[in-house]
Amino acid sequence: MDAPSIGAGRKRETVGHLKLPIVSVAVGNLLVMSRYRLQPTLAQEAALAEHCGHARFIWNLAVEQHEYWRPGRKSAPGFAEQCRQLTEARAQFAWLRAGSITVQQQALKDFAQAMANFFAGTHRKPTWRKRGQGDGFRIVGKRGLHWDVRRVSRNVGEVRIPKVGWVRFRWSRAVPEGVKSFRITRDPAGRWHVAFAAIPDPIPAPGTGAVVGVDRGVAVSAALSTGEMLNAPTLRETERRRLARLLRKPARAKRGSIRRARVKRAIARLRGRETDRRKDWVEKTSTDLARRFDVIAVEDLKIRNMTRSARGTRAEPGRNVRQKAGLNRGILASGWGRLVERLEHKAPGRVVKVHAAYTSQRCSACGIVDREARESQAVFRCRSCGYACNADVNAAGNIEQAAGHAVSAREGPWVAGPVHREPQPVLLSA
Ligand SMILES: [Zn+2]
Repeated sequence: MDAPSIGAGRKRETVGHLKLPIVSVAVGNLLVMSRYRLQPTLAQEAALAEHCGHARFIWNLAVEQHEYWRPGRKSAPGFAEQCRQLTEARAQFAWLRAGSITVQQQALKDFAQAMANFFAGTHRKPTWRKRGQGDGFRIVGKRGLHWDVRRVSRNVGEVRIPKVGWVRFRWSRAVPEGVKSFRITRDPAGRWHVAFAAIPDPIPAPGTGAVVGVDRGVAVSAALSTGEMLNAPTLRETERRRLARLLRKPARAKRGSIRRARVKRAIARLRGRETDRRKDWVEKTSTDLARRFDVIAVEDLKIRNMTRSARGTRAEPGRNVRQKAGLNRGILASGWGRLVERLEHKAPGRVVKVHAAYTSQRCSACGIVDREARESQAVFRCRSCGYACNADVNAAGNIEQAAGHAVSAREGPWVAGPVHREPQPVLLSA
C-alpha cells in the first residue's frame, strides 16, 4: 500500500534524465490485527461453523450475481440492493433467518469492499469460497451491544459472538484498546481463532536522532546498518524432515480416508507452527527497531509485483526465472513485507522507504558505485577504498545514508549515481 508521503511532500523527483522515486513515509492510522486462539465448546463450534456457512453462502451469491454480469446487461446489484435482497431471502428461508443478520450483512459489506479493491487494482477479483478454505466471518458493531470482550482469568478471555454467546479464547497477550471489530476464522488444521482489529498505539521514538537502515538479505532475513544480522526462525531440522515425510504421504493414502485427513492435519499443524514462529519474530523485531531508532529506513520493494513478475507473460517470458524464483521464496519466507507493515504500525511517520537501486553496488564507506565490488553473494569489497564487509550490511548502510540524507537535508534527493556516470560521493559528510 502506498502511504501518503510527508516531509518534502514529494514522492518522485527528477534527477537529470533519471526519474528516481526517492522516499515515501507511511503515516498512521493503519489497522492492526491481534490474533488469539479460540477455544469453543463442541456446541459453540457447531454454531460458529453455521455462521461460516452463512457468510460463505451470502458471499457466493454475491459472486454469482457479478459472474452473471456481461457488457450490455443490467449492472450487478450494489450493496444497498443486496441488503434488500438479503431481507427478502431471510423472510423466505427459515435456515437463513435462524442465523445472525450481523454476520450475513457483514459478508455483503466484505464483498463490496473486495469488489472496490478489485476495481482499484490492488486485489484480485473475489472468487467462490469453498467449505474448509478460508472459513470465517466478521463481526462489526458496537462493543457492549453487538459484541463484547472480557478477561476472565490470567490466561483466559471471552468474546461474545451474536447467537453463540461467550466463547473462551487463550489470553496470550492484552487485547488492544479501541477494538472496532473482529474476525473469527477456522484454519485448515481445524483451529479456531479470533482476530481483533484496532488502531494501535505507536511506540514512542527514543529521540536520539538514530537512523538505521534495514536490508532484506538473501542469506539472512534482515541486515541492519549497525552490522546486526537477523534471521527469522524456520522449522527445526527434525520438523523439516517430518514435514517432507508427511508431504510424500497423501499421494499414497486413499482419497477421503481418515488416514489422509490425519496426514493433512499434521502437515497444516507443522506449517502453522512455522508461521506462528515467524509472526512472533516479526513482532519482536519490529518492536525492538521502533524502540531503538528514530528513523527506520527500508528498501521500497513492491513485493507483490516482484513475486508475480518472475514468471513473465506468455508473450514475454521472464528472464532469470529460476534465480528470481529462489530469491522470491527467500523474500516471502522471511516475512519481509510483514515486517515493514508492522514497523509502519508501530513507528508511524518514522519508516522511510528508499529507492532500492544501487544499494548493493554502492560502497557505503566511500560512496563509489562499482558493479564488480560484490565479490560474492555474501561479501562486498570496494576496489576503490578497500572497505570490505558483509554485502547485506553494506546495502543496509546505503539505505541508512539515503534516509539520513533525505531526513536531514530535505532539499536534495539522494543520488547513488548511475553506473555510467561519474560517481558522486554526496554522502561523505552524511
Ligand atoms: Zn569504497
